[in-house]
Amino acid sequence: MRVYADNAATTAMSQKAVDAMTPYFRNIYGNPSSLHSVGQEAKEALDAARASVARCLGCEPREIIFTSGGSEADNQAILSAARYGARKKKKHIISTAFEHHAVLHTLQKLEREGYEVTYLDVKKNHNITAQQVRDAIRPDTCLVTVMYANNEIGSVLPIAEIGAICKEAGVPFHTEAVQAAGHLHINVKEQNIDMLSLSAHKFHGPKGVGALYVRRGFPLVNLIEGGAQERGKRAGTENLPGICGMAAALQDACEHMDENMPRVAAMRDRLIEGLSQIPHSALNGDRENRLPGNVSFCFEGIEGESLLLLLDAHGICASSGSACTSGSLDPSHVLLAIGRVHDVAHGSLRLSLSEYNTEEEIDHILTVVPQVVSYLRSISPVWRDLQTGKRQYIL
Ligand SMILES: *Cc1c(COP(=O)(O)O)cnc(C)c1O
Repeated sequence: MRVYADNAATTAMSQKAVDAMTPYFRNIYGNPSSLHSVGQEAKEALDAARASVARCLGCEPREIIFTSGGSEADNQAILSAARYGARKKKKHIISTAFEHHAVLHTLQKLEREGYEVTYLDVKKNHNITAQQVRDAIRPDTCLVTVMYANNEIGSVLPIAEIGAICKEAGVPFHTEAVQAAGHLHINVKEQNIDMLSLSAHKFHGPKGVGALYVRRGFPLVNLIEGGAQERGKRAGTENLPGICGMAAALQDACEHMDENMPRVAAMRDRLIEGLSQIPHSALNGDRENRLPGNVSFCFEGIEGESLLLLLDAHGICASSGSACTSGSLDPSHVLLAIGRVHDVAHGSLRLSLSEYNTEEEIDHILTVVPQVVSYLRSISPVWRDLQTGKRQYIL
């Protein structure tokens, strides 16, 4: 049995998305900017996709910019608000300590340019409150950018409340909704969101395509200069197959959200319940306000990387926040931000589910994970020290 439980990293494409893309490789191959009939067919498809994405978010089609993915949309949104702020001598930004690197690294770049960023603390409930945002707003705040839902630990932030506060204070509000789109209800008007980023491959769409919603009138800066595509805000011939695949995937996800997500959440809850029985473990993330598909744990006395490799050998594809990415041995900034100490953060496991997972797969995970954790502890010097009292348990 092979179980794919890494849907926060990427998802399998839906048949609907594949079918929606196929015509645009060979039959409707025109450039939407061409005036002839082949181009105009492509233009019609592009317009239809834009209208469909806009419907799913509760905005107007002209407020949607297609991008190469979530990262690009995050970069463009944040840099735009920063530049607009600077024109009005406002160079303070509010964000959180557990944002995705697409946001964090953009903010760090701005800090090097002289912007000041307040990173809201996420230790309490592994989340922020709207009140924290309210308290952090200053006269020179030019942007609040907080994620809709966290990709590692699943916490869902109080977006509508934050939107209302930002509106009242007159501060632009961006939310990176890459993990939320297609999984949680979004309505940018009701939630007072000025900018929102999403990425197709997190909701069974294709990789390399995303969208940025920008409230009408908000001044965007370009990351890519060139032709007049996307109302002059994002140059380059549109990725029409990708855009059509994304629109179909998002529409499908939104139409079936109310039947799919409760089923996914029930599988999540079985996993959380079962894995909580493992001694010296702790759930990461907000227990109440949580993505339907996210399960994240720390297990004391083991290495997340070894856990992943052994799980893979048992057919389970998961992820760990402790990945020694880019040669660094630092554990995930998200786990550190919620207050996990290094040793504990290194023993982390993220299982992220989608509606394609089955109850049988959950049974398999619930059988394998406790066995593998026990085995790894049995050969761990750290665990021996914990057992003999040479080291104190943290969890
Ligand atoms: C996947 C992901 C991104 C990056 O999206 P891409 O389309 O891969 O660039 C950004 N933020 C979060 C929360 C993500 O999960």
